Amino acid sequence: MRRTTAPTFSFEFFPPKTAAGETTLWEAIRRVEVLGPDFVSVTYGAGGSSRDRTVAVTKRIAAETTLRPVAHLTAVGHSVAELRRIIGRYADAGVRDVLVLRGDPPGDPTGWWVPHPDGFTHAYQLVELVRSLGDFTIGVAAFPERHPRSPDWDSDIGHFVAKCRAGADYAITQMFFDVETYLRFRDRVAAAGCSTPVIPEIMPATDYRQICRFAELSDAAFPEDLAHRLERARHDPATSYRIGVDHATAMADRLLVEGAPGLHYITLNRSTAAVDIHRNVLFSRSLHVR
Ligand code: FAD
Repeated sequence: MRRTTAPTFSFEFFPPKTAAGETTLWEAIRRVEVLGPDFVSVTYGAGGSSRDRTVAVTKRIAAETTLRPVAHLTAVGHSVAELRRIIGRYADAGVRDVLVLRGDPPGDPTGWWVPHPDGFTHAYQLVELVRSLGDFTIGVAAFPERHPRSPDWDSDIGHFVAKCRAGADYAITQMFFDVETYLRFRDRVAAAGCSTPVIPEIMPATDYRQICRFAELSDAAFPEDLAHRLERARHDPATSYRIGVDHATAMADRLLVEGAPGLHYITLNRSTAAVDIHRNVLFSRSLHVR
């Protein structure tokens, strides 16, 4: 992440599985490139399934665009020796930014974590490894509604702060749909004496069924009013789109007013909604500055 005092803005992509998906991804990447984001991140498929594709997309972004790529990396299914090799591949390609994650158990993301016999149990161990291997900028995950496996807030915040102190430069949150959720989490982290910047993730809620699935998977609470409006518009894509973009724009505006250090937009490789939200945010900020 580029260090600036102004809020950063960034976009998240995933590595596609097909040639058509690759074309869509690159169209989306080129659309955000002209906005000059601080970075773009590339996810690491659940269960480590996309390892080679994540590495390939991240390297291509580094080589062929003006963008700064952040590679997501999880500990799922990898020995420490394999993780070292993957980090080495990034370093060789000039990629110096890694979003370090533990990952979820393959097959059942809500199941109990079983570490690789020669691997890691928690993300902080991977943070320590990446930190020891070179001059990387390291991001970690934050869960404003608490990690689904955390038994209580004290242990959740305690482990989050320990992960930051292991060497994280910043954190990006799980998606959420209510600004208060983020603010409460940020206050808890600050009260625990941790000043690591926590960048909120912005998920455009433009499709009722898709958002229900994501919210269920991530345990993110979904405001009833927004759910009703999207449900009513479920056969009207243009109205759904407008509802989702307006809601995310209002959230993003308020988050910046509340001092969030940046905005990280999920694109689902289609970028249109994320770019529209970002343009709206820039517009309302230019009005505020005047
Ligand atoms: P950890 O920090 O290890 O936390 C996991 C659980 O263990 C928490 O309950 C925590 O409190 C607890 N814990 C931590 N340390 C200790 C300790 N020392 N002792 C006991 N308990 C401890 N997944 C993917 O597969 N690919 C991706 O690309 C990806 N990108 C993501 C991006 C973002 C912004 C976010 C928020 C999540 C992403 N995920 C991704 C999901 C993530 O991998 C899972 O949510 C995973 O369950 C948690 O990862 P973590 O890095 O927070 O793990």
